[in-house]
Amino acid sequence: MNPIGIFGGTFDPIHFGHLRTAFELLHFLRLQEMRFVPAGEPPHRDQPHADAALRLRLVEAAIDDQPGFVVDDREVRRGGPSYTVRTLSELRSEFPRRPLCLAIGMDAFLGLPQWHRWREILELAHVVVAHRPGWGAPGDGALGELLRQRGTTRVADLHDALAGRILVQPVTQLEISATELRNLLAAGLDPRYLVPDAVRSLIRETGSYLRTTTSPTR
Ligand code: ATP
Repeated sequence: MNPIGIFGGTFDPIHFGHLRTAFELLHFLRLQEMRFVPAGEPPHRDQPHADAALRLRLVEAAIDDQPGFVVDDREVRRGGPSYTVRTLSELRSEFPRRPLCLAIGMDAFLGLPQWHRWREILELAHVVVAHRPGWGAPGDGALGELLRQRGTTRVADLHDALAGRILVQPVTQLEISATELRNLLAAGLDPRYLVPDAVRSLIRETGSYLRTTTSPTR
């Protein structure tokens, strides 16, 4: 059975760096589908700028016309901290016989040991690490060791087992980050060609990510 890909993130907002990476992984790994799972309350970082409902709408708008891309809103509905291990356990119960591939960028992979019950993640899913500009693979430490034990370059290994392998995958390097996008939007600049047109329109309509200006006091 072809694996299900899980692409979690804050998506504050979603951009072409996320989308192109997910698209290349969908095809390269021969996934059944790639599920975008926006975090309701990301536990390992500052709280998002946009509320969960809007971030979810932006993801829906972004992936609308791409077969194989689906949105999974469970972390937004669940409330409380959005622990990936919990999402993966739910998916494992729902799909007991299908491999699961958690897709993350190299920057996120380097922070994996700080995630809640992180070692259980590899019991529930494979981890596919996408290259990201500016971030190199870990050579030593817990993650370097894990890569030596669990690493593979064979896509077939992700199809043959339900969980437990790590594959580091080069993808087209797009140096786009949501942080830079938020700065750009707050400065009143146009995000065109960094995000899908549907996302750009929604951001405009809702007036999101504009810096709130304080009126001058005299
Ligand atoms: P921020 O700048 O707010 O931290 P971000 O752009 O890193 O946001 P996230 O929603 O935090 O976006 O990222 C979700 C996932 O997408 C993470 O696994 C991250 O590594 C990956 N990712 C984000 N941007 C890119 C990119 N340009 N190329 C490849 N992967 C990316």
